[in-house]
Amino acid sequence: MSKMRAAQVSKRGGPFQLVERDIPDPGAGQIRVKVHACGICHSDSLTKEGLWPGIAYPRVPGHEAVGVVDALGAGVSGWAEGQRVGVGWNGGYCGYCDCCRRGEFFACQTSTYVTGITSDGGYADYLIARAEAVAHVPDDLAATDAAPLMCAGVTTYNALRNVGARPGDVVAVLGLGGLGHLGVQYAAKMGFKTVAIARGQDKGTLAATLGAWKYIDSKAQDPAAELRKLGGAKAVLATVTAGDAMAAALGGLGVNGVFIIVGAAMSMQISPLQLIGKSQSIKGWYSGTSIDSEDALSFSVQTGVRSMNEVFPLEKVEEGYQRMISGAARFRAVLSMES
Ligand SMILES: [Zn+2]
Ligand SMILES: [Zn+2]
Repeated sequence: MSKMRAAQVSKRGGPFQLVERDIPDPGAGQIRVKVHACGICHSDSLTKEGLWPGIAYPRVPGHEAVGVVDALGAGVSGWAEGQRVGVGWNGGYCGYCDCCRRGEFFACQTSTYVTGITSDGGYADYLIARAEAVAHVPDDLAATDAAPLMCAGVTTYNALRNVGARPGDVVAVLGLGGLGHLGVQYAAKMGFKTVAIARGQDKGTLAATLGAWKYIDSKAQDPAAELRKLGGAKAVLATVTAGDAMAAALGGLGVNGVFIIVGAAMSMQISPLQLIGKSQSIKGWYSGTSIDSEDALSFSVQTGVRSMNEVFPLEKVEEGYQRMISGAARFRAVLSMES
């Protein structure tokens, strides 16, 4: 039997182990993907550190996988070997539960399929995916460019396109990290008056490069007051993971404004009175399913949105992970199986 390389975590909190495994065969309804690149996302720490309940180890993380269809399991239609594909966080859904039948596939009630958590992910030469979890990847998007868009990209793109803001509205993106640097680009390309908010005056140049209309240095300025000077934001996309940084921007929402959260902060303080007075809302946003990823990739090709990446060969998975988890990576770390 042919072998493949995989970077697995053998136990909760354990190090990455580069191992040789048999290349798995796709079961019914599954697709085998030959992985060319896989992004290293902060949520991979759920697998690495065992923060997701019930993970069966050893487990291969990785939910920003891009490659080609290598083999089809029984009953898979609509896909062919050699097609370029990506697999993101959503690892599939049943199609028959109440949520699925209402079109809310991301909230499937029967089973939770999460790539790299409930099944092995993309830190390997091959992965097995459920067919409904697979997205088409445009030809003119390199694998290492496409990979981070399968989670960081679709998350910010999908939140922004569903937030209810219209072209010309003021939309703020809080944070200029792995998610935020994509969020600013998407918001600008969607035609919003995009305001980037981060800490430090030095990030202003980066924000402008990414297409921001204005930059607010939250170290030197009160982000809420500055947004109110601009008439208040129709939406704030919160990509940071600090609840106090979120709370500091909340007051910058305008009338009917939406504070949309994609950064996994543990808690945040809010003023119900303020929300009531301006009929504002706070909501979270799940990344998306495979068709949302496809839309995100297509929009990125159309508009030139790209993630800024640090690329590592699979052997350097530990180094890449440490760059990501320490916050040092500028801005996404990506594993390339082809280097
Ligand atoms: Zn992710
Ligand atoms: Zn379902």
